[in-house]
Amino acid sequence: MIYLDYSATTPVAPEVLERMMLVLQTNFANPSSIHALGREARLAVDMAREEVCNFINCRPLEIVFTAGGTEADNLGIRGVLLENLDRGKEVITSRAEHKAVLNTLKQLDERGTISLKFVRMTAEGRIDMSHFEELLSDETGFVSLMHVNNELGTINNIEQIGSLCRRHNAIFHVDAVQSFGKLALDMETLPVDVLSASSHKIYGPKGAGFTYVRKGIKIAKIIDGGHQEFDLRAGTENVPAIAGFAKAIELCKGAMPAEGERIAELHTYFRNRIENEIDDVRVNSPQSGNLPNILNVSFAACDGESFVMNMDSRGVALSSGSACTTGSIESSTVIETLGIDEKWRESAVRFSFGRNTKKEDLDIVIEKIKEVVQFLRKL
Ligand SMILES: *Cc1c(COP(=O)(O)O)cnc(C)c1O
Repeated sequence: MIYLDYSATTPVAPEVLERMMLVLQTNFANPSSIHALGREARLAVDMAREEVCNFINCRPLEIVFTAGGTEADNLGIRGVLLENLDRGKEVITSRAEHKAVLNTLKQLDERGTISLKFVRMTAEGRIDMSHFEELLSDETGFVSLMHVNNELGTINNIEQIGSLCRRHNAIFHVDAVQSFGKLALDMETLPVDVLSASSHKIYGPKGAGFTYVRKGIKIAKIIDGGHQEFDLRAGTENVPAIAGFAKAIELCKGAMPAEGERIAELHTYFRNRIENEIDDVRVNSPQSGNLPNILNVSFAACDGESFVMNMDSRGVALSSGSACTTGSIESSTVIETLGIDEKWRESAVRFSFGRNTKKEDLDIVIEKIKEVVQFLRKL
C-alpha cells in the first residue's frame, strides 16, 4: 500500500514506539503519587512539557496536555472563551475550520452564549483579510482561525490576523494541528494567545495533544475531577502517550528544514506531472503560501469518493474532499466554501505526503491515477 493520507494521521515513528514501550514498562506509576515511582512518572511528563516549550518557545505553565487535537480545540475555545465573555460576545471564525472548532463554536452560538460571525474565504481557501477587518470590532472578544488548512494546505497569515486581534483586545485561538512540527512557531513573538496541537499528525501516538494558553489569559477546565495539569485538565496523565508525543517533537525538530524541502520537491514534481499528463484537472491547493505536504486536486467527471475507492483497490491510500458522507473522518466543508464549480467540488481529492513518501512511489501513483481517471470517465 502506498500511503498518501498523512494529514489524516501518521504512522508512529520507530523511536517514538521505543520510548513509549520503555515508559509503559518503567513509568507505570501515577504521576500524582508521592513515592519514588510516582515521582519518576511525573518527571517523564515534566520532561515532555520541557520539550514542547523548547520547541515553541514558551513556559511550562502555558502548556496543558490533552487527549488530542479535538480536546485541545475544545479547551482552547470553551475553556478560554467562556472565561472571557467580558471582552465582547462576538466571535469570528471561518467555515474552513476543523469540526472540532466549528461545532464547538456553533453550539455556543446556538445557545446564545456568543454571536458567531464567519469570515469570507478567498478562492485559495485563505482568510479574506479585508472582510476580516470589516468584521472585527470592539464587540469582538474571540477569534478562532486555523494556521494551515487540512484540506488544501493553505497557510493563513497568523501574524497579521493576531496583530489585528490585539488592536481590538480580542483573544486569538489558532488550530495549529496541521502546521505544528512542520512550520516554526515562536510563541514569544507570535501574536497568538491560544494554540492547539496534536501528536498523531506528527508521528506520535493518537490520544495526545496540548493547548497552549498564554500567561495572563483566563482559562477554566472543561473536564472536571482531580487537579492534574495545573488544575486545568483533570484525569490521570497518559504518560506513555505524552512521552511519545515529546519524542515525536524532538524528531520533527531535527528533521524540519530538510524534510520540508524534500516534501516541497515531491509536491512540485507530483503537481506538475498531474497537470501535464492528465486532462481536465484543477489543482485546488494554492501555488504559493501553502504547506507542500498537502495537494488537493479535482479530476473532472470523477466523483471524489469513487476515485478514492478505486485508488484504494489499486494500493493507494488517500482522502476525498467531498462533503459529509458516512465514514469520512474529517469531511470537508472547505471545498464547498471556495466558490468553485460543482464539477470541481464533487471531484476533489487530497493527497498528503510524509516521511515515507518517495518519488518512485509517486511515479506508481501517477500511473494508477491515469487508470482510475480513464475508468471513471468511461462509466
Ligand atoms: C486532525 C485535526 C484535528 C483533530 O485532532 P485529533 O488529535 O485527531 O483529535 C483538529 N484540527 C485539525 C486542523 C486537524 O487536522
